[in-house]
Amino acid sequence: MKHVKIMGIPFTHITHRTLVQKLEEHIRLGEKSFIITANPEIVMHANADYEYMRSIHKANYITADGIGIIRASQLMKEPLPERVTGYDVMIDMLEIAEKEQYKIFLLGAHPDVLNRVEANIQKYYPNVEIVGKHDGYFDWNHNDVAEQVKEANPDLTFVALGAPKQEKWIAQNIDQFEKGVFLCVGGSFDVIGG
Ligand code: UDP
Repeated sequence: MKHVKIMGIPFTHITHRTLVQKLEEHIRLGEKSFIITANPEIVMHANADYEYMRSIHKANYITADGIGIIRASQLMKEPLPERVTGYDVMIDMLEIAEKEQYKIFLLGAHPDVLNRVEANIQKYYPNVEIVGKHDGYFDWNHNDVAEQVKEANPDLTFVALGAPKQEKWIAQNIDQFEKGVFLCVGGSFDVIGG
C-alpha cells in the first residue's frame, strides 16, 4: 500500500471506504490489524517521544485525521485522498459487526461512560456481541486488561484511551493476541455514551 511520510510518520494512502473494506476482510480472514487515525498533535508528540514514534510504526494503517495532515500531503505533492476519523470508522465497523454478528471488546473511558456506550451498542446494534469491556483507568504494570482481551478473543477492539496511551497500549500488547482489529478511537466513547 502507498504511503506518504510526514514528519517521520508513514501515512497510508487510503479512503475511509477502502479502509472499512480492508478491515472487514482482515476480520473475515482472522488477521490482526492495528489502526491509528493521526492528527497534527499526534505527529508533533511522536517527534518528541521516541517510544511513541516506535508504537506508531507498529500500526498497519495510519490515516490522516485532520485537514492539517491533508494540507501537508498536498504541499508535498503526494496528496492523501481524504480525512479518515476513528469515530467514523468505528460507526461503520459497528454496522458491519451488526450484520455479521461480530464479537467486540470496549476498552477505555470512565466506567460510567463505558456502561452507557455498552447500553447504546446493545440498543442500536443488538446482534453485536460485547465479549468484554474495561474502563480506561487501570494500572499498566498489571497485565490484567490484556489478559481479558486475550481471553475474550474479539474480532474488533475499540481502544478509547486517548492519545498517546491508546497507541502505546496496542503496540505493547498486540503481539500476544491471536486475531482482531484494534482501532484507536480517542474520545468516541464520550460521544457514543452521550
Ligand atoms: N481516557 C482513558 N484513560 C486515560 C486517559 C483518557 O480512558 O488514562 C479516555 C477519556 O476518558 C476519554 C478518551 O480517553 O474518553 C479521550 O480522551 P482525551 O479527550 O484526553 O483524548 P483525545 O480525544 O484528545 O485523544
